[in-house]
Amino acid sequence: MGTSVNRNDTLRHDPDCIFCRILAGEIPSDRVHEDEKVIAFKDLHPQAPVHVLVVPREHRRDVTELAEDPALLAHTATVAAKVAAEQADGDFRLVFNTGASAGQTVFHVHAHVLAGGTLAEGEL
Ligand code: 5GP
Repeated sequence: MGTSVNRNDTLRHDPDCIFCRILAGEIPSDRVHEDEKVIAFKDLHPQAPVHVLVVPREHRRDVTELAEDPALLAHTATVAAKVAAEQADGDFRLVFNTGASAGQTVFHVHAHVLAGGTLAEGEL
């Protein structure tokens, strides 16, 4: 099914997208931040002591589509830094897997925030 506007007729929304469903509250998530533009929740399968996904509310496929809205891309990075400061010591790795061969499995853009302890090189 294709992308469409959501209930408030402003944001792109895909009813078949797992992150759109989390955003809509249809699937539970452990949220650590939310505002009018993005939410952040703990990854189901953490790969670091702190592993949070920052997810724009609008359904965009990947960071290339996110970059079409520079303010939203910047806001995503700002929220990532805030999460890392609140959940760990402020140091963090920010990862956007982009495309299946790069490891992207959920095609609704999300920034992985990895933090806490010493991260191994090449993680994620
Ligand atoms: P990707 O592989 O697309 O870069 O990352 C997708 C991430 O989403 C994975 O790290 C995976 O563990 C996480 N994930 C997938 N489904 C869910 C879910 O239903 N809830 C949460 N909290 N994380 C999920």
